[in-house]
Amino acid sequence: MSIIQPPTAAPPETDEARRAWQACLDIMRERVNTQSFKTWFEPIEPLHLRSGKLTVQVPSQFFYDWLEEHYGDIFTATVTRVLGKEASLEYLVRHDESALEPEPPPLPLQQPTEQLHSGVAAEATPTPGAGGPPRYDSRPSEAFSTFLNPRYTFENFIKGDSNQLARAAASAVANNPGGTSFNPLVLYGGTGLGKTHLIQAIGNSAIATRKARRVIYVSSEKFTVEFVDAIQSDRINDFLSFYRSMDVLIVDDIQFFSGKEKTQDSFFHTFNELHQLGKQIVLSSDRPPKELKGLDDRLLSRFQWGLTADIQPPDLETRIAILRKKSENEGIDLSQDVVEFIATNVNSNVRELEGCLISLLAKASLEGRDVNLDLARDVVRMVVGDVRSPITIETIQRTVCEYFNIPEDLIRAKTRKQEVVNARQIAMFLAKDLTNSSLKTIGLHFGGRDHSTVIHAYQSVEDQMRIDPKYQAHVLQIRRRLQVMGHV
Ligand code: ADP
Ligand code: MG
Repeated sequence: MSIIQPPTAAPPETDEARRAWQACLDIMRERVNTQSFKTWFEPIEPLHLRSGKLTVQVPSQFFYDWLEEHYGDIFTATVTRVLGKEASLEYLVRHDESALEPEPPPLPLQQPTEQLHSGVAAEATPTPGAGGPPRYDSRPSEAFSTFLNPRYTFENFIKGDSNQLARAAASAVANNPGGTSFNPLVLYGGTGLGKTHLIQAIGNSAIATRKARRVIYVSSEKFTVEFVDAIQSDRINDFLSFYRSMDVLIVDDIQFFSGKEKTQDSFFHTFNELHQLGKQIVLSSDRPPKELKGLDDRLLSRFQWGLTADIQPPDLETRIAILRKKSENEGIDLSQDVVEFIATNVNSNVRELEGCLISLLAKASLEGRDVNLDLARDVVRMVVGDVRSPITIETIQRTVCEYFNIPEDLIRAKTRKQEVVNARQIAMFLAKDLTNSSLKTIGLHFGGRDHSTVIHAYQSVEDQMRIDPKYQAHVLQIRRRLQVMGHV
């Protein structure tokens, strides 16, 4: 990664501003999720760079407030990293016509502070091998950039069946780095399921509880780039001694080591050295290590020395808990139907879930809309494409049985128990109302009943709804459930 020096003379500034801003974006892209990045970072335009002061334009005052509140620290830290300690960032709101004047009145954003968020270096330490004087000494983590995102903590990580083992192992490792048999700890799973979060939580926790002095987080790609840089600039010893001086080495996405033999070799020796010294190694991968192609067998066998744990996609309950927690963090109170709607329809990974929530808030604020089911629908459609598949008779049966708490097979059986008859009739009624199925097909789905039975059920439900408000409320409630699930 190149470090751009602040200009010594005045303009031309726009190109420099663009380059500097691009370098900032490249760093920040890794620290926020894609949806936030698109919503909040891409609309920002670099204007000029003068004497280390980078001026960018934002679309509105609201936008600026949001940025400052949510990303002020990241911005400040990144700009200092890219442009040096003395650099600062200025924001201009687009409607402000004076914005393009040579010395416009800036909106003051906090100046670079000495101590930024924990884990982010106060000084712009160059990455190993990236130029500048070597600074690899034995100082603790506060003295260099750990590249840990302070947001990734165990407290912010929602537990669920899908991540139970991974989380427990991560927590054990954080409490006793290098001292458990989980060395290395390898977490694997699909994208957006929390691997990066969890492995960074180990680092953040180990630093906070002083269980480790020196922790570094690095992606395998960054490790590779630094390695190549270090060779080219003849600073390989610095590079190696830097990584070998860690108490906890966290390497993300090791699948990208694939096919890079020299880097793997360097990593292999670093791994061995740290392991022998009883230091902790934490790795993540998008698939089980044994399925990693293009990785040296020596490395693969090392990975099996410790513990390998997977993270699965979160179940509905966990997705609901994640949405609750995240909306709480944003200071908003989502209604149950909005939470259920999003959790039901956005079910592949947590990053998407998060993206959905952020878009929901952004849309509500920018368009001045209420956060309700309608808005949630629009956003979900935007994030995951069309909402769930059309409703089926099976879904209706399942929902009705869940609602009345009766076993699902009874609804198709011969039983004439009052509560089952009741549920069966309501399910038939909804099936006729909400699907395009013929009476005959509906009958077949209910244990091969006749179409006249379906007609009878339909009329009976209609009549009862008219005379019994409580009964009607039940039917409407079930309908609403189906609606929340995105089926209607
Ligand atoms: P991965 O590295 O597996 O692709 P990340 O760790 O980047 O996934 O997770 C994607 C986003 O989802 C992050 O913002 C992370 O904080 C969040 N996330 C993932 N799992 C959880 C969880 N169990 N609780 C809270 N947030 C989570
Ligand atoms: Mg990741």
